[in-house]
Amino acid sequence: MVNPLRPVILAASSSSRIQRMLTGFAPTSRIVRRFVAGETRDDVLTVAAGLLAGGRMISVDFLGENTTDRAQAQRTLAEYRELIWDLARVAPPAVAAVQPIEVSVKLSALGQALAVDGHAVATENLYALCAEAVRAGVWVCVDAEDHSTTEPTLATVEAMRTEFPWLGVAVQAYLRRTEADCRAFASAGTRIRLCKGAYREPQDVAFQRASEVTRSYLRCLEILMHGRGYPMIASHDPAVIAAAERMAADSDRAAGEFEHQMLYGVRDREQARLVHADQAVRVYVPYGGQWYGYLTRRLAERPANVAFFVRALRDGS
Ligand SMILES: Cc1cc2nc3c(=O)[nH]c(=O)nc-3n(C[C@H](O)[C@H](O)[C@H](O)COP(=O)(O)OP(=O)(O)OC[C@H]3O[C@@H](n4cnc5c(N)ncnc54)[C@H](O)[C@@H]3O)c2cc1C
Repeated sequence: MVNPLRPVILAASSSSRIQRMLTGFAPTSRIVRRFVAGETRDDVLTVAAGLLAGGRMISVDFLGENTTDRAQAQRTLAEYRELIWDLARVAPPAVAAVQPIEVSVKLSALGQALAVDGHAVATENLYALCAEAVRAGVWVCVDAEDHSTTEPTLATVEAMRTEFPWLGVAVQAYLRRTEADCRAFASAGTRIRLCKGAYREPQDVAFQRASEVTRSYLRCLEILMHGRGYPMIASHDPAVIAAAERMAADSDRAAGEFEHQMLYGVRDREQARLVHADQAVRVYVPYGGQWYGYLTRRLAERPANVAFFVRALRDGS
């Protein structure tokens, strides 16, 4: 089924008028707080410490995307550098094969969307971030953005993996190309985060119906689970989680040879259940003042999230 609200909400995600209206509106803060750890680094460090103490791994995202100003890209890099060291202080680097602490970054926040030399600037900034992350014992994963960025993003990550083999990347099952990308990336040591995809995409590049997207997800997951890399299963979908369990058994993967990933504030009880069942779980934790694009994508995913938002507005809390 196609969610009728999805295109409308995703269109609102790029409207600066609606953004101004919502960000200045007090009741908005309740729903923001449900999905975002807070606006400051201190906020996210508190949330991170709690999740790690509860046996979950984390991937922290400093919110911001589509930077069109070079100085802003440098400020984002500077924030990530400090974040990495602060996170390493919250939990010292593990000796385990899988680092519990990761940061997630969008190349568009590091300058990919700059009109001049965007690709080079983002690559240079990602390199600096990875080099710092090595020193702190923290991992990095590159988020997937709209389809126009898929090719340069995958190429950048692939090139950088020769020096930073632990560098992860997200792929989106709604894109028609992703099955082939999974085949290409399912080699030893790769860390691939498979998600359904959160942007508004044309039908020539992306499946539109939820059932088609889920079927594509399961085909991609099968490739990754039978490949030689480390699959990161970013989904709250019970059908996906159950399929992952079956595929892990079929491909003789032990619990530590793949991980589940969920968003902060989503299916918390399911996260706890998986941890209790000795499964590796990583929570994606966003923070920062630029939460608008992230929040609207969460609203577009699920009518129940819109209902929560409407209730928050009605109650004025
Ligand atoms: C860790 C992580 C990282 C991500 N990174 C990216 C990225 O880099 N790029 C990108 O485009 N997208 C990213 N996403 C978002 C992703 O693409 C999807 O938009 C989002 O996860 C929704 O898809 P889904 O598979 O969770 O399930 P959906 O198809 O949204 O939902 C399927 C089913 O899951 C259950 N479910 C979903 N949400 C809830 C909820 N709130 N409460 C209870 N049940 C629920 C329901 O049973 C629902 O029917 C990421 C998602 C995660 C979890």
